[in-house]
Amino acid sequence: MNVLLIVGDRLGEYDPLTANGVTAGLHLGEVTALAAGPNSQQKSEQVANISGVQRVLVPTNPVLQTPGVENLALLINKLTPSYDVIMAVTSTFGSDLIPRCAALANCSPITGISAITKDHTLSRPINAGAVLAQLALPKTPAFLTVRPTAFPPAGQTATNVEIIDLEDSLTGMLSQHKSFTPSANIRPDPVSAKIVVAGGGGLQQGGSFELVEQLADHLKAGVGASRTAVDMGLASNDLQIGQTGRSIAPDLYIGLGISGAIQHLAGIKDARMIVSINSDPSAPLHGAADYALTADIFSAVPELLKKI
Ligand SMILES: Cc1cc2nc3c(=O)[nH]c(=O)nc-3n(C[C@H](O)[C@H](O)[C@H](O)COP(=O)(O)OP(=O)(O)OC[C@H]3O[C@@H](n4cnc5c(N)ncnc54)[C@H](O)[C@@H]3O)c2cc1C
Repeated sequence: MNVLLIVGDRLGEYDPLTANGVTAGLHLGEVTALAAGPNSQQKSEQVANISGVQRVLVPTNPVLQTPGVENLALLINKLTPSYDVIMAVTSTFGSDLIPRCAALANCSPITGISAITKDHTLSRPINAGAVLAQLALPKTPAFLTVRPTAFPPAGQTATNVEIIDLEDSLTGMLSQHKSFTPSANIRPDPVSAKIVVAGGGGLQQGGSFELVEQLADHLKAGVGASRTAVDMGLASNDLQIGQTGRSIAPDLYIGLGISGAIQHLAGIKDARMIVSINSDPSAPLHGAADYALTADIFSAVPELLKKI
């Protein structure tokens, strides 16, 4: 099968989780990568180093070297007849792009795939991870997003990867790029971070996420949030962990003032070690945790900061 893997973009830069997408793509067939958006030349060189990638397409149209997925989806729609599978890693970028591509081809995407068998059966957790759905690969073209935490990154061995300039003049463009201002967050992305400190509704009393950020910066960790924290405006939407947020698999996850609702647990079930700090001893996150500290976060975290 011919697989077109769209190179991930994170704030205009190459998303290293693309390497996990290559592993998933190789389960299905021959992988061609498409590097678009800002820094597409650099992205193409980075993805060309990943073993298993056969060729890299780089659009030369300046419109496709800007952020945003609307016009990229139009280009992919033109390329779709040449591929059996169009895929990206589940991320803010991939989850925005792939459903648009599927809609343009009048197809339904399959998102959040966690396993692919030899006979191309796809697995995806549903009902907050309580059920694992197994699906046959749909009639081509198939539009997929794959959970990066479920596939190891492909290795880095430079082979003779072809980098091909893709000349294209798009018509019927859907958006025009005006400006691009990345947020000031320079912490590791929670999906690829080895340590994630996440905050929840328990932060409300402090009125900010400062406590979470302080501990995260101390540990050089990524920051995550529960949906309540996002809804309260304490954290941005892209930090949400869980069923309707992102799935993470760090070595260490520390939940501060997070109850541990099933929808949140769905996003952290692959964490290797879970630590919960909550004033309620019966919080479900305590039950799922390797280490649970029943304490007020506003006194426990400053103590921790002194001791670490
Ligand atoms: C369809 C659907 C999808 C959803 N998707 C997601 C998702 O992706 N991610 C997600 O997180 N949620 C999701 N939710 C929401 C989820 O059900 C919970 O409402 C949410 O996770 C609760 O967040 P929380 O634990 O931070 O907040 P709360 O439920 O408000 O819990 C706050 C916790 O903080 C503790 N606390 C309070 N003060 C302190 C203190 N000073 N010190 C220590 N502990 C303190 C409390 O004991 C409590 O356990 C979804 C819900 C639905 C219906």
